[in-house]
Amino acid sequence: MQLERNILLNPGPSTTTDTVKMAQIVPDICPREKEFADIMRPMRDEFVKIVHGDIEEYTSVLFCGSGTICMDIALNSLLEEGKRALVINNGSYSQRAVDILKYYNMPFLEAKQSVIEPPNLIEIENILRSNKDIGYVYITYHETGTGLLNPVKEVGKIAHKYGAFLIADTTSAYAMIPINVYEENIDFCMASAQKGIMGMTGLSYIIGRRDIIERSRNFPKRSYYCNLYMQYEFFEATGEMHFTPPVQTIYAAKQALKEYWDEGELQKWNRHRRIMSAIREGIDRFGFREALERSVQAGLVTAILYPDDENWDFEKIHDYCYRHGFTIYPGKMQNHKTFRLCAFGAIDEQDIKRFWHVFEDAMRENRVSIPVVYNEVDDE
Ligand SMILES: *Cc1c(COP(=O)(O)O)cnc(C)c1O
Repeated sequence: MQLERNILLNPGPSTTTDTVKMAQIVPDICPREKEFADIMRPMRDEFVKIVHGDIEEYTSVLFCGSGTICMDIALNSLLEEGKRALVINNGSYSQRAVDILKYYNMPFLEAKQSVIEPPNLIEIENILRSNKDIGYVYITYHETGTGLLNPVKEVGKIAHKYGAFLIADTTSAYAMIPINVYEENIDFCMASAQKGIMGMTGLSYIIGRRDIIERSRNFPKRSYYCNLYMQYEFFEATGEMHFTPPVQTIYAAKQALKEYWDEGELQKWNRHRRIMSAIREGIDRFGFREALERSVQAGLVTAILYPDDENWDFEKIHDYCYRHGFTIYPGKMQNHKTFRLCAFGAIDEQDIKRFWHVFEDAMRENRVSIPVVYNEVDDE
C-alpha cells in the first residue's frame, strides 16, 4: 500500500513513518490478554529511560487520551489536602493548566509572567518563600504557542528548596530535546505519543517519582477516570490499564519507540535542529519576523508575525500549502497575529526546503510582497 506523505508543520500530531502507520495493522486482540500486557510493560520502562530516570525511582503511567489528559491527571491527582498549587503562567499551555485547576475548584497561586521572555526567578522564589503551603510547582517545559523554553532546572531547584515538587509539562519537548529528570529537577513530566516519539494519537503518559505517587494514594480524589494513583495501582497489579487502552495506538508506539532508539537521542535532537535551521533560513530569506527572540526559543516551534500586507491572508496561504502536502498552523498569542512552523516529526531539512518553495508559490499566487513588509521599523 502506497500512502501519500504529508508534511505536518503543526504542533502535533506529527508526520510519522510508514512503518509506524503500518504497525497499527494487527490481528484483533483483546487487550486483557497477557500478550498485550507484555507489550505495555517494557514500554513503561522505556518511557522512563527516555528522560534518563532510574526505573526503581521513576515510573510511567499510561493513559488513553490526548496530551491534555496528562495535564489534567497530574494537576488533580498530586495535590495534597491543605496544599496549594503554583502555576508558572507564561503561555497558552500553562493557561490551560490554570483553567484545569479552576474547573476542579482547587486552591492555587499563579505566577503570571511575560509570554515572550523567560520568567523572573526572583518573583517565583518570593512566592514560594511567602507561601509555605505550596504542594507542587507546575511549569510548561516548552510553551508550544510561542516556542519559549522555560528554565525548568532553575524553577525545580527553587521548588525543592521550599519543599515542593516539580511537575513539568514536557509534551512538546519529550523525546525531542534531551531531558534528564535528575539534572533538571523534574519530579513529574508527561508526553503524548503523537509528538516526540512520532507515534499515533490516543496514548499519553506521565513519568514521575514512585514515592510521590505512592503517597498520593491518600491525596484527595478529584476525578474518577482521571486519577494517577488508581491507574498506577492497576498497572502495578495487573500490567494493564484500568479501562480499555488504545490498542492499535500502542502497537504503533511500540514501533515508534524502536525507531526512537535506532535513531538515537542526540541524532534525533540534531535532526530537529537541522529542521529548525532550514525553517529559519526561509524566515530570513523572505524577511519574516518572529514573535520571540531566537535566543529564548526551544528551537522546535516558532511563531511568525503576519506581515502588514493587504494581500496576506493566512487561510489562503494555508490552503495552497495544504493542497501541496504541507500543513501550517495558526498562532496562539493574544496580542500578536502569528502563524506557527514546528520542527516535529519524521521529516528533515530537505522537506523544509521543498516547503519554502511551495510557500513562495503561495505568496506569489496571492500577490504578497517578497520580501514581506512590516509597518513598524524593526528596533534591533
Ligand atoms: C500538545 C501539547 C499538549 C497536549 O495537547 P493535546 O491537544 O491534548 O494533545 C499539552 N501541553 C503542551 C505543552 C503541548 O504542546
